[in-house]
Amino acid sequence: MTTKRILTICKRDADTMHEQMMTEKSVAETNTRYDRKQALDLLTDLPMGELMRLAHQERMRRFPDSRVSFVVDTNPNYTNVCVTRCRFCAFCRKAGDNDAYLLTPGQLAESVRMAADKGATTVLLQGGHNPVVDIGLWLAYIRAIRDACPGMHVHPFSPAEIAFMADKEKISVAEVLRMLWEAGIRTIPGGGAEILTERVRRIIAPHKAGVDAWLGVCETAHGIGFKTTATMMFGHVESDAEIIDHLLRLRDLQDSTAGFTSFIPWSFKPGQTDLAREVKQPAHPARYVRIIAVARLVLDNFTHIQSSWFSENIAAGQLGLLAGADDFGGVLVEEHVHREAGHDRRATVDNVVTIIRRAGFTPARRDSNYQVRDIYPAPLPVGTGGAAPA
Ligand code: SF4
Repeated sequence: MTTKRILTICKRDADTMHEQMMTEKSVAETNTRYDRKQALDLLTDLPMGELMRLAHQERMRRFPDSRVSFVVDTNPNYTNVCVTRCRFCAFCRKAGDNDAYLLTPGQLAESVRMAADKGATTVLLQGGHNPVVDIGLWLAYIRAIRDACPGMHVHPFSPAEIAFMADKEKISVAEVLRMLWEAGIRTIPGGGAEILTERVRRIIAPHKAGVDAWLGVCETAHGIGFKTTATMMFGHVESDAEIIDHLLRLRDLQDSTAGFTSFIPWSFKPGQTDLAREVKQPAHPARYVRIIAVARLVLDNFTHIQSSWFSENIAAGQLGLLAGADDFGGVLVEEHVHREAGHDRRATVDNVVTIIRRAGFTPARRDSNYQVRDIYPAPLPVGTGGAAPA
């Protein structure tokens, strides 16, 4: 076949695809819902520029003021001992390992106090599934943080940890959650979702809470009144269809509870993990941007979609803001899990404000309830970025 004929066929295919996707565009504009096939077509077939344009259009419809929010938070891990041994995790240790640890409430509170001195307003508190940690210690951690930093928002314990704690204590998930509620907790991080299909979980995290357990903790939490985030870790053994199944499961639950505040994706970092023997490279940043755009379009009942400088890189984080995301995640004062996998990212509030402004948005510092606390100056309009050199 001649090159000219190949180009003609490619152009014809692209035109057909574009035509099909213009039907998808009318789906976005008429506020009807993407079904599973349409969602999969968005992820796999729509040209990147068109996908970003559709997602950005939807983001601007919801947030016409061009603000991008971020939170200053800290992410101490109270223990790195974990019996669940997920194959993608470089953070967990066995109880007898030299570098295994379990923080006392006083040690944890001190690390949070130091983060508060650096401006943190939220502590995202998670740890390994350590059988010696009981619900009493969880509550002691919360009290110690409150005593040391009365204004700090405590955002603790992923659904996977809560399911593990309920099993360990031989009480229901609802009882664990009620104890947290009585301790004043109102928001829960949505960690441990990975990919919400049993096939993937059997391969990468066979001992972790399954799909129904993870969703069940969120459903129960939402029923009590908690707000939670929802995460997704992609870029390992999942298929495109499984990414869409993950999104649709979140959308279905959100239809009935309205308890999710935001969707937060990140890619698997092979680093020093067992799974790295099979998955050697992290996903390309373009994949991250596509997933953000698809999430903005498919998760039509989620308010916030997060793009982050932290989980990927600065450029991918900025492109995510042009592909439907309205939130830039956290300026982490302390973080261990990604760092253990060889993914070390640090930035100050000034750095993050600059990154957001350079992407063309107005930075807004928020709290964990997505309430804006400070608004920074808007960026200069494009093309007016300073005097010409003399
Ligand atoms: S990801 Fe969490 S549950 Fe899985 S091994 Fe690591 S610390 Fe344990």
